[in-house]
Parts: sequence; structure tokens; C-alpha cells
Amino acid sequence: MSQRILVTGGAGFLGSHLCDHLVSEGHDVICLDNYFTGRKNNIEHLMDYKNFELMRHDITFPVFVEVDQIYNLACPASPVHYQYNAVKTIKTNVMGAVNCLGLAKRIKARILQASTSEVYGDPNEHPQKESYWGNVNPIGLRSCYDEGKRVAETLFFDYHRMNAVDIRVMRIFNTYGPRMHPHDGRVVSNFIMQALEGEDITIYGDGSQTRSFCYVSDLIDGMIRLMNQDELIGPVNIGNPGEFTIKELAEMVIGLTESNSALVFTAQPSDDPRQRKPDISLAQHKLDWEPAIDLDEGLRKTIAYFIELLDEQD
Ligand code: NAD
Ligand code: UDP
Repeated sequence: MSQRILVTGGAGFLGSHLCDHLVSEGHDVICLDNYFTGRKNNIEHLMDYKNFELMRHDITFPVFVEVDQIYNLACPASPVHYQYNAVKTIKTNVMGAVNCLGLAKRIKARILQASTSEVYGDPNEHPQKESYWGNVNPIGLRSCYDEGKRVAETLFFDYHRMNAVDIRVMRIFNTYGPRMHPHDGRVVSNFIMQALEGEDITIYGDGSQTRSFCYVSDLIDGMIRLMNQDELIGPVNIGNPGEFTIKELAEMVIGLTESNSALVFTAQPSDDPRQRKPDISLAQHKLDWEPAIDLDEGLRKTIAYFIELLDEQD
């Protein structure tokens, strides 16, 4: 059945893929964004669809729309961008959650929060299960994002307990794919752009820190499954459990792009998590979800996207 759906942060990397999916299923989609890190380019192909609508709005201010479902994705995700204006990042997470939850409460909409593996901080438990409470520095450079997302989770559960708001909370692990901003600052886009442009590959620290990379189509599939079932409210990890060191990632990107770029090692940012790998057994059992695209295949698709982007710029 067709539904009316609000996607905050809909012009961003994940939001635009989510809008694609929802529009193609025939839902009426309102894409809300303030274009801080999102771009109209990401969603311009949807503008001619009658079931797609764009709303320029900052989610730190209340929003009034009538919808059946809300996906709350508004928040810069790259450390470079979320640290650019740390106070704004906290406001987006906290006031954004309050505004979306208030709306969901009033109009009785189901609401999904795009939370993050960052709630586990620099984890002492490996791999990370949803039951792990995390190891987060409350006053560091990453705290505006990590603690903002943690408060947002708290708000979701308190609105659920106090007001019976129908919540879903998803903890997203590092996700990559086409439509990442080429200068977004995240590791996959940085390495691919550097390799394609023949620049040095910048490894922060010695490159032994690990991450688990999920391809965007797998992530969106998990998000939609979580939203459209009645058993599990979360939090639930959605990510690819394949774990790679950052140096391994750099070597894969160099190999796949056949680049001559050199690896250079620079200072590691403070509070950079040493390791990260999701335990996805909850999503496997309750959502019947697991990722289908491994890092090699996903990188090939992403590299093809960035090559096309560079060709268009020439
Ligand atoms: P992104 O930066 O590409 O998208 C975020 C979108 O939110 C952008 O379009 C931006 O303009 C918009 N936005 C930011 N502040 C806003 C505000 N105050 N009001 C309205 N819109 C605002 O990032 P993404 O990778 O697409 O991430 C989407 C969501 O998923 C974020 O909430 C992020 O924290 C979460 N997440 C992403 C990842 C990942 O690896 N991509 C991992 C964990 C969590
Ligand atoms: N990183 C790196 N070089 C870069 C960008 C990032 O070595 O050009 C490292 C970063 O220090 C971190 C990992 O790659 O250890 C993932 O960084 P990203 O910003 O993509 O995501 P997050 O740290 O939020 O997981």
C-alpha cells in the first residue's frame, strides 16, 4: 500500500538512495534537507516524479507535515563535516530528534532513527553487539556526533516509553557507494579520489585501525526491512561484518584503480576508534537480512561512479 513518507536528510548520500527506493515503490515521498552536506544533484532525477517533493528546511526547527512514516537521517556523517560546526551537529541530532519525535507523536507516524556504530565509541568489545553500551569520550572532537546520536537514541526510547511513539532505531556501520560526496572526507571516497587523481593516499596513523564497510544498497535494504516489520524496534546493527584494516583498504583501492599513488602516513585524529565490526545476528534472525555485496564488488561499483563523475567534470 502506498504511504506518505518524510525523509530528513533526503538529499544526502544515504537519503537520496532511500528516496530512490521509496519513490520507485510508489510512495509519496517528502525529501527534507538544508543542503549542508547534501546536494540537489543527488535527487534531481526524482524531480519529475509526481510522488516526490522537495522541502528546504533545517530540522533544528519544527516541521509540520502529514505522513505515515518518518526516516530521520538529517545529520552530517563525515568527521570533517560534523566537526566543522560541532554545536550545530549536536543541535541537529538533539533538536532534530525532538522535532521529528514530536511530529511522529502528533500525527501517529512510525519513525526510524539513523543511529550509528559511533555510539560504541572506541569499543572494548569486539565485534560489537547491540547490548554493548560503548566507550565514548564525552568531551572529545567526535563527541558532538557520538554523544548527539546517543542522546537521540535516548529520546527515541523515552518518547516510546512515555508516549507510545512507534520507533525503529538502526545502528549504521560505515557505508559507502555511489553519491558519496567526492570531497566528503570519509575514507572510501578520499582513497578512491586520491587513487584516480594520482595523488598520495593519506592513511591516518599506521593504518592498522579496522572498519567494516557496507555497500549502500545492502544498507537501504536493511533500513526498509526494519521500518516495515512489527516485531523489532531496535536498536539493531546494520553493517557488513567483513573487517579490513585501513591499510588493506588503501591497497585494494590502488589495485582496483591500477593507480600509481603512494601510501603516505599522517597523524591519526584524536579518539579515532581502533576497531569496528558489527555483530549482525539480530538483523539476520529478526529481519532476515544480511549484506550481499562484498568489499571488492562494492568498491568496483563505487570506483566506476567516481570515474564517471570525473569524466563529467572534464
Ligand atoms: P550525508 O552527510 O551525505 O547526508 C546527511 C544529510 O543531512 C545531508 O543531505 C545534509 O544536508 C542533511 N542535513 C544535515 N544537517 C541538517 C539539518 N540541520 N537539517 C536538515 N538537513 C540536514 O550523510 P549520510 O552518509 O547520507 O548519512 C545519513 C545519516 O546516516 C546520518 O544521520 C548519519 O549520521 C547516519 N550514518 C551514516 C553512516 C555512513 O557510513 N554513511 C554511518 C552511520 C550513520
Ligand atoms: N582515514 C584515513 N584517511 C583518510 C580518511 C580516513 O586513514 O583520508 C581513516 C580514519 O582515521 C579512520 C578510518 O579511516 O580510522 C575511517 O574514517 P571515516 O572518516 O571514513 O569514518 P569513521 O572514522 O567515522 O569510521
